[in-house]
Amino acid sequence: MQDRDSNAGRDDEPVAGADSRRGKVWLIGAGPGDVELLTLKAVHALRKADVALVDDLVNEEVLQFLRAGVRIIRVGKRGWKGQCGLSTSQAFIEKQMILFARRGLTVARVKGGDPFVFGRGGEELQALQAAGIEVEVASGITAGIGVPAALGIPVTHRGLSHGVTLVTGHLREDCGGEAPNWHALARSGTTLVIYMGIANLAQIVTGLRDAGMAAGTPLAVVQNGTLASQRSLVTSLGDAVAAVAQAKFGSPAIVVVGDVVRFAATTEQRERARLVA
Ligand code: SAH
Repeated sequence: MQDRDSNAGRDDEPVAGADSRRGKVWLIGAGPGDVELLTLKAVHALRKADVALVDDLVNEEVLQFLRAGVRIIRVGKRGWKGQCGLSTSQAFIEKQMILFARRGLTVARVKGGDPFVFGRGGEELQALQAAGIEVEVASGITAGIGVPAALGIPVTHRGLSHGVTLVTGHLREDCGGEAPNWHALARSGTTLVIYMGIANLAQIVTGLRDAGMAAGTPLAVVQNGTLASQRSLVTSLGDAVAAVAQAKFGSPAIVVVGDVVRFAATTEQRERARLVA
């Protein structure tokens, strides 16, 4: 039986499965939601794990690949305070991984999307390497690419968009960091894929409009992309704030800005296609 409620490992606690093996940590990307988007490497790594530290956005179905009895520790950050910079939770997670690996365990650190795209995977890699722990990465499909694809949006397209920029909409000014340079982004000529952008959508739109991006620029919002609960909205930069408020979109959502959004099949279109098929 899986221990789904535990949330910490103590130094002095005996852990079933530990032996004289060298411990190891897998940084595993679980993809944007749909369990079929997991990589084979991720599945193999999950099967080897003795303990799993799992983020909020990871689909529960992903955990079916863990062996029976594997301890599952929820380390989602939604409830944590101190989101700015290195939160307590991040230090806690890194400490846990190091402790388990030092006991000879294989640790699955499971994150939504890709561990190295807004996933703090780089920080964890550094912490583990500094502690002399073996670490391997199982890349995942990042939400910024897999979620637009679920709507039929290619993030680049010959003749329409010569590149794609993945950017966070979680403005860090409050945290003493810098906001993205919307001016430069608006002029980049690339598709903009904005993670964590819903809460600050009004500021983002203002930033892009002030930088000269046309109000008619196509914009899509996709919530819970690739899951059964997926919702999407195709609008324009100028209308986005009102449309998102009216449709009551929330997190997690990806915002895509650029001409490639014209490829989007709306929910209604997809539903019609399904009925016709
Ligand atoms: N490492 C993850 C991103 C983590 S940041 C990745 O590579 O995908 C969390 C943000 O990712 C969310 O706020 C949202 O913007 C986006 N996201 C993750 N899963 C999503 C999903 N299924 N649908 C829409 N957006 C998603």
